[in-house]
Amino acid sequence: MSSSTELNRLTIADAAALLHKREISSAELTRVCLDRIAAVEPQLNAFITVTQKAALEQADAADRRIKGGDAPPLCGIPLGIKDIYATKGATTTCASKILSNFVPPFDATVIAKLRGEGAVFVGKTNMDEFAMGSSTENSAFGPTKNPHDLTRVAGGSSGGSAAAVAAGECLGALGTDTGGSIREPASFCGVTGIKPTYSRVSRYGVVAYASSLDQVGPFAKTVRDAAILLRALAGHDPHDSTCSARPVPDYERALTGDVSGLRIGVPKEYFVAGMDPTVERAVREALKCYEAMGAKLVDITLPHTSYAIACYYLVATAEASANLARYDGIRYGVRAAAEDMISLYEMTRAQGFGAEVKRRIMLGTFALSAGYYDAYYLKAMKVRTLIRRDFDCAFEDCDVIVTPVAPTTAFKLGEKMNDPLTMYLSDIFTISVNLAGLPGLAIPCGYDANGLPIGMQIIGAPFAEETILRTGDAFERSGAVIPRRPAL
Ligand code: GLN
Repeated sequence: MSSSTELNRLTIADAAALLHKREISSAELTRVCLDRIAAVEPQLNAFITVTQKAALEQADAADRRIKGGDAPPLCGIPLGIKDIYATKGATTTCASKILSNFVPPFDATVIAKLRGEGAVFVGKTNMDEFAMGSSTENSAFGPTKNPHDLTRVAGGSSGGSAAAVAAGECLGALGTDTGGSIREPASFCGVTGIKPTYSRVSRYGVVAYASSLDQVGPFAKTVRDAAILLRALAGHDPHDSTCSARPVPDYERALTGDVSGLRIGVPKEYFVAGMDPTVERAVREALKCYEAMGAKLVDITLPHTSYAIACYYLVATAEASANLARYDGIRYGVRAAAEDMISLYEMTRAQGFGAEVKRRIMLGTFALSAGYYDAYYLKAMKVRTLIRRDFDCAFEDCDVIVTPVAPTTAFKLGEKMNDPLTMYLSDIFTISVNLAGLPGLAIPCGYDANGLPIGMQIIGAPFAEETILRTGDAFERSGAVIPRRPAL
């Protein structure tokens, strides 16, 4: 291993091995991450809050536990937490002015699980306000920059988590994905991210955006690390009635490197005119690499793909308008000074929410209102069923589906801010997966002419996380793409 200043570059698997052999301490590892945060944050803005003091205490506790023997795999590992998770004692702002002073009295279930494993939380990462966006530019705390090119976006909404892992500020991070918010920033920042099957991971204590789509998932440098994190996160939770009781497999054991005979579906609707040709080329090269490893490519069709964005922006905004009704200045966060109750509600919401959040609340309220419900919301629900059936049919002929994550690499800051519709199109390849409730993995599969990472998406049938992780890991092992360290 190189110098101790490079400890933050270790994978979770390697760091855990060194921690358990007591060749390094969590205190040392955590300090290196905190130093890195101090050095790059003025440029990167990946964190809303850095919890330095608590992190060092957690690290000391982890070191004591490791010394005692029998510590779990994530014990002592520094992680970044998207600022959408309730963390007892640390602000959970959701990147909104309306929650800027909100300190939750409890931990989200996944936070409690990670605490139980002895993980170290270095801070709360930046995001689009209430997870609405694809670039982290809709944050009340300023945008996160892309560590590969500081003039570009990190992706969104979990842009802070993706950038923090890419820049070596932490070894792994938590995000959430409603329409692509783990996979798109992972792709833009050149890291790995997985959105598990809907219901695989508890969402108790995670600020709700669109409850029929939201899912929790990890970011990491490698597929193996993502597998280690997912195993710690997944599993039944009596506090979340939507959470599955299925047993959690040992995802790491699924990483055999073997893809011979694997049937990879290639949907024609995901290789379309208008997408960046370098992105298409990189994904097609990856497909050739899979063929060389013994996988079989199968042409498939997902015929309702072109309706996915319209469908998503009806369902997601409708659910958001209901979920965000609770921010009224009475129960949580910031309260505007007002004369009477109605103006208190109105002023709190007018001052507290940003422009994109207001747009979505209005769109959703419209889609649910009398006379429009049948025309918009109900129709969107029917289209959603058709999209899910497309995948059911496709999985009769293939084991996984491989596509690009996004039609482009990271775009310039400000480029799409005045055109919400173009911004919404960044999610064209990711949102169907949420509408259908499927697991999707994003891994780096190349770089464009500007040195920006390109992401490949591997989609599985419900609860086929082991298969998609195995498929992603096999590509990583092939060595076809050598991960590049960001310029920052
Ligand atoms: N970009 C999509 C949106 O703005 C998805 C966001 C997400 O997955 N949270 O809704």
